[in-house]
Amino acid sequence: MQAKLDTLNSKLKDIQNINHAAAVLGWDQQTYMPPGGAAARAEQLSTLSKISHEMFTAAEIGELLADLAQAEFDYDSDEASLIRVIQRDYDKARKLPPKLVEEMSRTFSMGQQVWTKARAEKDFSQFQDILAKIVDLNIQVAEAYGYEESIYDALLDQYEPDMKASDVQQVFDELKAELVPLVQAIAEHQEVVDDFVLQQEFDEQTQWDFGLLPLQAIGFDMQRGRQDKSAHPFTTSFSTNDVRITTRFHREMIASALFGTLHEGGHALYEQNSDPTLEGTPLAGGTSLGVHESQSRLWENVVGRSREFWQFYYPKLQEFFPKQFGAVDREVFYRAINKSKPSLIRVEADEVTYNLHIFLRFELEQALLTNSLKVADLPEAWNAKMESYLGLTPPDDAKGVLQDIHWSGGMMGYFPTYTLGNILSLQFYSQTLKDLPDLPEQFAKGEFGALLEWFREHIHRHGRKFTANELIQRVTGDDGIKAGPYLNYIKRKYSEIYELA
Ligand code: ZN
Repeated sequence: MQAKLDTLNSKLKDIQNINHAAAVLGWDQQTYMPPGGAAARAEQLSTLSKISHEMFTAAEIGELLADLAQAEFDYDSDEASLIRVIQRDYDKARKLPPKLVEEMSRTFSMGQQVWTKARAEKDFSQFQDILAKIVDLNIQVAEAYGYEESIYDALLDQYEPDMKASDVQQVFDELKAELVPLVQAIAEHQEVVDDFVLQQEFDEQTQWDFGLLPLQAIGFDMQRGRQDKSAHPFTTSFSTNDVRITTRFHREMIASALFGTLHEGGHALYEQNSDPTLEGTPLAGGTSLGVHESQSRLWENVVGRSREFWQFYYPKLQEFFPKQFGAVDREVFYRAINKSKPSLIRVEADEVTYNLHIFLRFELEQALLTNSLKVADLPEAWNAKMESYLGLTPPDDAKGVLQDIHWSGGMMGYFPTYTLGNILSLQFYSQTLKDLPDLPEQFAKGEFGALLEWFREHIHRHGRKFTANELIQRVTGDDGIKAGPYLNYIKRKYSEIYELA
């Protein structure tokens, strides 16, 4: 049995090396590659993904897995986890006909080009035909994977294994019932919070230099990672010992880089802290997008937008930006970074209204996939939902239906994981506080080691060994995702800031 396991590991290692080499090319594409490199890079990436897919779906991998299924390893062991996780990946990969995979790759890469131009020209009609094709391909993918309850389940499963649309619907309904009235109550108290202090000129290099302080303090290891700039912030890793994050800077909006850095830093901590025994195996990294997002949201919002965090960092921020913040009270700054106001763009939304943007996308995706909404009618449906959830009508398609890159790249079923991450961050953190009730006082002293250690022990080190639901069960004892801790946090925080009765 050991010989078979060694053979499987060595094959997976080769595949993993190819995938990581592709990731380096992908990282370079978004950071340093000159525009002229785009066509050649697309070819290079497509060749690598073809080779990797062929190697992984080879019959021999299936035979090794079938033999190893007879082995008696302890459920929690790296061996049993590897066999379990890889069997699942393998079954999924084998379900997609190579012709479909090829057509997806071509259409999705073209989709991004068409979308970029349509968005720049604020014109949905240019994107309509290819989006219809993308929706159709997603339907084909879902049918190939198969599903029990709804077609959405098959697509969601790619990002949030084992979760169903009906589970998502249930927690979203619970959130909606509380958040919609909260957004209205805040709207009636808008005058309480002004964020004028954030809308000044901020030197880019100074923003970069300041951002490195909290990034390193929360535990990002610069010897095993680095930060660069990119148009859209992201995290990628080529090894647990080489994790890359990117940040973007706006001269007139300091919050973007400040919280974007903490957000990507949170993703990076998860990647850097897989157990060393998982290095180079497909078990390193995060288990699902929702759990990954719970880590980024934890550091960005729960820690990074807390009073205690700024008790420590605000005097330092004032030193970096004396002209902008020297005369500004810390409480004014704290409220400014937590201002909640309905807005058009998801990525710029605050903690309260953010989820409403996700509800809208979740509903539209389901309608598209069940053919109850035609792609041609999508902009109108988008605008109607924006009006009903946020009371706003986008002035053009770029600020409306064309704002996100996901659909153009073929990703449907992805959006819910953002809100699942928000919910999970608090479901986990409420447990952390039971073990370590004095954490906020530690933040006020600039100490984050105990928080990182708790997450390393309970979540990070396991990599992909356990599913999101298994982690939730192990960490909190709950039988799945629960909105309660998140809602309590949001209501308490914002009632206080906006002086709601
Ligand atoms: Zn994220």
